[in-house]
Amino acid sequence: MVKLVMDFKTLAFAFSSLEKTTKRLEMTKILAELFAKASADEIAKILYLLQGRVAPPFEEKELGLGERLVEQAISLATGYHASEIRELYTELGDLGLAVEKLVGKKKQQTLFAKKLTVLDVFSAFKKIAEASGPKSQQLKIKLLAELIHNSEPIEARYIVRIPLNKLRLGIGDPTVLDALSVMKKGDKQLRESLERAYNVTSNIGFVAEKFFREGIKGINTIKIEIGRPIRPALAERLPNAEEIIKKIGRCAVEAKYDGFRMQIHKKGKEVKLFSRAATDMTYMFPEIVDAIRLQKCESFIIDSECLGYDPKNRRYHSFQETMQRRRKYGISDKAKEIPLHLFVFDILYLNGDEMINKAYEQRRKALEKNIDENETVHLSDMIIAETPEELLDYFNACVNAGLEGVIAKDLKAPYTVGARKFAWIKLKKSYETALSDTIDAVIVGYDIGKGKRKELGLGTILVAVYDEQEDVFKTLAKVGTGFSEEDIKRFKQKLDEIKIPHKSPRLISKVEADVWVEPKYVVEISGDEITKSSMHTCGISGGETYALRFPRIVRSEFRDKRPEEATTVTEIIKMAKMQKRKSG
Ligand code: ATP
Repeated sequence: MVKLVMDFKTLAFAFSSLEKTTKRLEMTKILAELFAKASADEIAKILYLLQGRVAPPFEEKELGLGERLVEQAISLATGYHASEIRELYTELGDLGLAVEKLVGKKKQQTLFAKKLTVLDVFSAFKKIAEASGPKSQQLKIKLLAELIHNSEPIEARYIVRIPLNKLRLGIGDPTVLDALSVMKKGDKQLRESLERAYNVTSNIGFVAEKFFREGIKGINTIKIEIGRPIRPALAERLPNAEEIIKKIGRCAVEAKYDGFRMQIHKKGKEVKLFSRAATDMTYMFPEIVDAIRLQKCESFIIDSECLGYDPKNRRYHSFQETMQRRRKYGISDKAKEIPLHLFVFDILYLNGDEMINKAYEQRRKALEKNIDENETVHLSDMIIAETPEELLDYFNACVNAGLEGVIAKDLKAPYTVGARKFAWIKLKKSYETALSDTIDAVIVGYDIGKGKRKELGLGTILVAVYDEQEDVFKTLAKVGTGFSEEDIKRFKQKLDEIKIPHKSPRLISKVEADVWVEPKYVVEISGDEITKSSMHTCGISGGETYALRFPRIVRSEFRDKRPEEATTVTEIIKMAKMQKRKSG
């Protein structure tokens, strides 16, 4: 059956239905129905638009437009004066709703308006994202105005929200993967294959398009390719050395370096560096690029941790100091001040061969054979431990050397792409305290507070963790300590950019917040213990719920994690159990 070209209106109606629900099953159904109407040429574009983008996250194509520019475009398209638009915006609290109303009673009659298709809208947004140079602002306004001019009221609502980053439909990639399977089979039976393909490409659009063109057979042929970030393997936790040896037996134990993760792709002289969240950060670290170019091995993908090094005092910088290197400007000055060292701990691809399914032992051998160590590039320090005592000795040595702890690795396990499995188990210094680990939580709102805090406009932040079964966020604590006045100002400014009038549709919360924000920023927090709670919603639906007692911010920089990569509800439950094992 030949599919018709999809009108943008069809997508706008889907946006509108998605906006009205918070139930994952319902969202999946709406998406599956939408996808069934799409063609192979459209599907990737639909998925990017659903996430307010024009490309996958690792191709830094920023679509963002400021409110002023968008207002000018609305004015150009509708004939209303900027002040009238602003007035309506203030009244309705959303430029999307304002433009919808204005388009409905447009002053200039739309004589030459044409029906918008999904492809038209995508291509205009792509031009907007790519426009650069002195005249680019005018071009962006013109392109957006043309879209608004040609749109019906409901279409205009979303056409304006997309570049403003205000779409907020709350669709995570897991829901899209479910919906692709449901579209084809009516259930989730294809989910695992689709997820594998997604994990080795980090590109939901690419996977979906391939699925449309070649079906599940095509999906199963997707291979690792240089230049496409692979979703990183994650580590489980256990409270002590005994439990680790009991779980995985004789194992490798590696030093745990506290810097930032870097996935490095090399093919000849071409080098690409990706962050943990799969963003391209090649341009930020010229000395790493140079050091990798010197490697004799023709092509590889390696996994590593990057640390700032202080050559004068011959010591490694703290995490906070190292993080100063993740910047967009003044790169070469900072590179001189804080050169980076790389600790390579895994290899995922080597000279045309996928390595992820090989056992750790083989991968480590391949690393040792193919990676040349030099001033910048080092292999992670590693021992083999047979007994809990050996593991603990090495752990103590690492902690005494100022490291965070160790990661024990199952010698026979593959590289667990995109998943937290017992192939890697972390043991940290911080486990000696009641709470076994820090928690990466998503900020979902804030309270204004009292006294001095009130003057600053932010007293406590409401944080949540991720429920991977339901693809929603559940609250864990209100945090009011651990940040400086500077941090508070920075938090407030960042959070105000993503304010929303009601709590996010993806948030399950019983507590209120003065200001709600879109779940976007992840912060590292700690606390005294995890306790049962009737106030917070962190728990499996229908089961016990938990809260964090005496919570505090550990690091005030936002983490390089998407909200779906925050600590999960399941992890919190496991941590609560670990805590019991320690105290009892
Ligand atoms: P996670 O990455 O597990 O979600 P996280 O980002 O909070 O959690 P940690 O819990 O501190 O990080 O531990 C895992 C991280 O440790 C890895 O993502 C990696 O960046 C870092 N790391 C440091 N040294 C190693 C090593 N030798 N092997 C694997 N990972 C290491």
